[in-house]
Amino acid sequence: MSSARSDRPITLVSFDIDGTLEVGDPPGLITIPMVRGAQRRGYVIGTCSDRPVSFQQQLWERLGMVPHFAVLKHRLADVKAQFEAHTYVHIGDTDIDDHFATVAGFHFIRADTTAHDSWKRLLFDPHTP
Ligand SMILES: [Mg+2]
Repeated sequence: MSSARSDRPITLVSFDIDGTLEVGDPPGLITIPMVRGAQRRGYVIGTCSDRPVSFQQQLWERLGMVPHFAVLKHRLADVKAQFEAHTYVHIGDTDIDDHFATVAGFHFIRADTTAHDSWKRLLFDPHTP
């Protein structure tokens, strides 16, 4: 069982909402198909936002998706403790995201066009094994 796990390292991706997801206010670069693709690839996914948890849950319901987690921004460390993964990533658009991600031991990826090109293939390209 443990070897099966190491054969397929688990990636956990936390998404900020506003300024990060296309459904955020303001809309961000991350499209919902990208989020669905991440889930389809077996990633542990969820939202981590200043928006109340109830708002985040309604958002996921509206998308017809079930996330692994939906937490407030300062709760990333709890997410890390709850899910065992090979890589922990938080995607957000502000220095606040950067701060909370770094403190919690996540890799921070900024949802801007410059960073986008370098990481989108890595995380979201359906053809990457
Ligand atoms: Mg934001």
